[in-house]
Amino acid sequence: MTTETSSPLGTPLGTTAGDTLQKFIFDNAAVRGELVEISDTWREIQARHGYPKAVRAVLGEMVAAGALLSANLKFNGSIVMQIHGDGPVRLLVVECDANLRLRATAKLAPGVEIGDEASLSELFNVNGNGRFVITLDPADKMPGQQPYQGVVPLDGDSMATVIENYMLRSEQMDTRLWLAADDGVARGLLLQKLPRHSGKEDQTKQATEAEDLETWNRAAMLGQTLKREELLSTDIATLMRRLFWEETIRVFDPLQPTFHCSCNREKVGDMLKMLGQEEVESALAELGELGINCDFCGKHYAFDKVDCAQLFASDTTAQAVMPPGGSTH
Ligand SMILES: [Zn+2]
Repeated sequence: MTTETSSPLGTPLGTTAGDTLQKFIFDNAAVRGELVEISDTWREIQARHGYPKAVRAVLGEMVAAGALLSANLKFNGSIVMQIHGDGPVRLLVVECDANLRLRATAKLAPGVEIGDEASLSELFNVNGNGRFVITLDPADKMPGQQPYQGVVPLDGDSMATVIENYMLRSEQMDTRLWLAADDGVARGLLLQKLPRHSGKEDQTKQATEAEDLETWNRAAMLGQTLKREELLSTDIATLMRRLFWEETIRVFDPLQPTFHCSCNREKVGDMLKMLGQEEVESALAELGELGINCDFCGKHYAFDKVDCAQLFASDTTAQAVMPPGGSTH
């Protein structure tokens, strides 16, 4: 179907270039949606990693989902989505902040062979112990404030179903997701039925709720027509017109997901401190210098004897560092 500028969508979306997230709402109904396409950022995430095809597909879907959920964050901070697997894939991590800055990584069990068509449960849930974890991590935490964390079993045979179940269970939010990723692009559609503000149980409210439900069901049915191949091969401006051309929809200014890794030397140092002085010194004795590569962006951090001694020096103002191989406590 071709679309004219006079389509009920109102403002023409124009051509979207690069990584884009498009929010929209259905007019006169508490139903919102988002479409996202991530290609440059997705390629950056895959660079330097030779993940198997089936892992790339799930990680890409999770990247798209991470952006879709983060776009509605009501605080300055990040969403961290993780799958802790008990099969050939041990961990998938996607982090996305409120400015849609993304990073992601995967950890495989050593020496595993993974088929191209491996299912979600074959990848992560071989013994039924796979877990899906969402962490909401505010950037400016109060002293002692812990990030909010929700953990659910890997309930569903697709990334989309797992997240839909999570949203319903933990957020009491009706959410539908359609996700797809190949090596070049990760795309997704999210639809969400928003709660109406509680008010008087009058006639108007009942009518509005009925309308909301009708719009919600219709939108979900339209989303249901979207096939994986179509999602992979069609830009989101076209998808929007194809799916919702008969709907009255308001679109917002498009947002731009980007790649960003928050690693730095201080955080790597903190990690070494957590390992403990003894552990670090024995590794130093063996290797001479510690090299740590960031799992997300591949950046290399080197810590020699002097660097490590400084980490463990209790008096941070002291210039003197312990001699190499110096005494432990
Ligand atoms: Zn990094």
